[in-house]
Amino acid sequence: MDSMEIPVLNLSNDPPVVPHATYKVGIRRKTRQVNVGGIKVGGGAPISVQTMTKTKTSDVAGTVAQIVRAAEEGCDIVRVTVNDKEAADAMAEIVRQSPLPIVADIHFNHIFALKSIEANVAKVRLNPGNIGSRERIHQVLNAAKGKGIPIRIGVNSGSLEEDILNKHGYPTAEALYESAMRHVGICDEFGFRDVIVSVKSTDVRLMIEAYRLVAERTDIPLHLGVTEAGTARVGTIKSAVGIGTLLAEGIGDTIRVSLTDEPYKEVEVGKEILRSLALASRNVELIACPTCGRLEVDLFGIMAELEKRLEGIKKPVKIAVLGCVVNGPGEASEADIGIAAGKGVGILYRKGEVIRRVKESEIVDVIVEEVKNFQPELEESK
Ligand code: SF4
Repeated sequence: MDSMEIPVLNLSNDPPVVPHATYKVGIRRKTRQVNVGGIKVGGGAPISVQTMTKTKTSDVAGTVAQIVRAAEEGCDIVRVTVNDKEAADAMAEIVRQSPLPIVADIHFNHIFALKSIEANVAKVRLNPGNIGSRERIHQVLNAAKGKGIPIRIGVNSGSLEEDILNKHGYPTAEALYESAMRHVGICDEFGFRDVIVSVKSTDVRLMIEAYRLVAERTDIPLHLGVTEAGTARVGTIKSAVGIGTLLAEGIGDTIRVSLTDEPYKEVEVGKEILRSLALASRNVELIACPTCGRLEVDLFGIMAELEKRLEGIKKPVKIAVLGCVVNGPGEASEADIGIAAGKGVGILYRKGEVIRRVKESEIVDVIVEEVKNFQPELEESK
């Protein structure tokens, strides 16, 4: 990808918060690296995808089932809430049964943090400034250090400290940055540097600006997310815009898409965001024209059936189906497998070469067969 300088987003008519900052598209930001149960985060490691379970944590079987399903979808790390004694008691068994590293999500309670660390979680999400006395902070950071567990400091525009809110008037990017750095500062005081930071907001522009500030001023790995993004449709769009914008600028080391939906759905969307920026290996990629008055086949029907028939196939193959001869041949010949449709027929392309004519009624079967026979390595070494 060519590198190109783009300006920092300005949220208002005021001068930009970081007036001269520019980012190089396609170049990853350099950060320190932390290890989350064997998954490296930051320091040039592949960007990992996270989700969070939605069961009562004390329901070990239900929680593990969600983790296993997320793992099947390609999830790297799973967060589990530790919000009561029953949840804390269940952590050891969940860690034991989980195929993925587990992050304990803790608010305020240092005992739950200590129990989770003892249960061998891979990371703790906790803001040290919120757990009380220096003695408690010391105990938790010491225990985490002893096991080589990183801490994620998660700041959210909806729960900023009162004094920071009073100072800034309302949740601003600077306010989110200041809150995160307060917790980072506490960790630093105790010599604890294995931290990851998130500065989330439901406001996409605000989270973009806040993450840019942390990225500009520190070398801490960043966990990206738009908080409470919403239902699948809205949440997917908001996350793609917020997380995608930052990733395209080289910012972000691990991501979580928050949806009011099953954890594996969050993973699906997260993986797709990474794929769209060539930050994850490709899966089946299905491209179709939007259709217009020139359309000469039932493209909606063909695509719906193709999507169903190709579900679950994990192959890095790009398929393009175009509805007429205007743009069809060009686009179809750029894909691994392409169809440029004409009246009741399609011209089949394989890696840019015309293979043969196919009847409209056979297009789906022919593509599925081509996908089955497609061998990425062989094709690429040709
Ligand atoms: Fe219209 Fe043909 Fe373009 Fe499809 S490929 S949008 S049918 S012009």
